[in-house]
Amino acid sequence: MREHSDIVIVGGGPVGTALALALADSASQVQVLETRTDLGRVAHKRTLALSYGSRLILERLGVWAALREVTEICDIHISQAGGFGMTRLHAVDEGLPALGYVVDYGELDSALHAALRRTAVDVVTGATVRSTAHYAGYACVQAEIKGAIRQITTRLAVVADGGAGSGIARETHDYAQHALLANVSAELPHRGWAYERFTADGPVALLPQGKGYALVWTATAERAGALLDLPDAAFLQELHAHFGDRVGRFSSVAARTSFPLNLSYVREPIAPHRVIIGNAAHILHPVAGQGFNLGLRDAWELAERIRDCRREDLGVLSMLKNFQSGRQLDVSGSIFFTDLLVRLFSNASPLLQRSRGLGLLALQQMPPLRHLVARRMVFGARG
Ligand SMILES: Cc1cc2nc3c(=O)[nH]c(=O)nc-3n(C[C@H](O)[C@H](O)[C@H](O)COP(=O)(O)OP(=O)(O)OC[C@H]3O[C@@H](n4cnc5c(N)ncnc54)[C@H](O)[C@@H]3O)c2cc1C
Repeated sequence: MREHSDIVIVGGGPVGTALALALADSASQVQVLETRTDLGRVAHKRTLALSYGSRLILERLGVWAALREVTEICDIHISQAGGFGMTRLHAVDEGLPALGYVVDYGELDSALHAALRRTAVDVVTGATVRSTAHYAGYACVQAEIKGAIRQITTRLAVVADGGAGSGIARETHDYAQHALLANVSAELPHRGWAYERFTADGPVALLPQGKGYALVWTATAERAGALLDLPDAAFLQELHAHFGDRVGRFSSVAARTSFPLNLSYVREPIAPHRVIIGNAAHILHPVAGQGFNLGLRDAWELAERIRDCRREDLGVLSMLKNFQSGRQLDVSGSIFFTDLLVRLFSNASPLLQRSRGLGLLALQQMPPLRHLVARRMVFGARG
């Protein structure tokens, strides 16, 4: 551990490590503080839906080719239960090889750390950051390492701790929904199709993964709890009744787990010599698989700002304001887009159901509109 670094990144999750990698050959000395002692272990097993835009970033970071288990999403089918209207998005219509990809969070995390080990960036494991204070000219990060509190000064502290321990005030909206995650297999092969189906309980998504699907099923806490407890065969029947017949009957389920869904974000992600990025800055509903992609774009664009700034401007408020204003449209647009989808589509009102149906039909019938939605999902606000 160094007592001073130009940049200290708090949290060596995918967003923090992506930033560290993007800065590895810059003029700045970078140090990552990560609470895990064993980088091979992740707190929650999960599947990430990466956009094609995220693939481009990971390619530039030299990480994409190292990922072994990648499943392409070539087409997306969007529909609503109990109502008319349906839309299909296709990678070929966008001139892209895929709209997105499904990868395992743990594998991505390991690949990023493996790439980071080949650089001069210091990664301190078993370092739990307790506080980050900012002063005129520098920030001071307090970390607990092997039971002792250590102070590290820096020109720029980047908080990328996933929102776990920043102690920073957040705006939070509880969706009163849980996401139930599982790996399922079905009668029909996916052939690269992902399905997003809106129901009165919330969206249910099937993402192609390997030979089967990664399931994200939104439900009330009680329903999610009951579904977790069901024997496999009963669970698969419930899923079929809920999702419909689009992929045939479901044949197996594994790795069921659930977590509560909130919209949570910090209003002020910047302060002199401190910036918050990734999930630490914004946690979104998983409805459109935007969360990690947004965080990765934070990391990429922050690295660009850091590279472009003069050494004496590193971490000063004007530099961070430039970063923030560049990110504003993407961040607030993604929050607005996912929140609107959840509010409009998790609703049984007949009037809304009709409007949703008309919206889905319009999207299907109007290629320019569909193109706009697809580009937004793939590339964010700059799509
Ligand atoms: C169950 C689940 C499913 C999801 N599914 C999807 C999906 O399908 N698609 C998608 O795009 N997004 C998804 N997300 C969101 C996605 O996981 C996040 O967007 C992504 O993990 C954010 O990366 P991050 O690096 O910002 O935060 P994290 O992945 O949370 O990483 C934070 C890192 O900081 C470390 N840390 C925490 N506290 C401290 C501390 N005090 N000191 C030092 N280190 C610390 C942690 O150990 C961790 O390594 C899902 C999230 C969850 C919880």
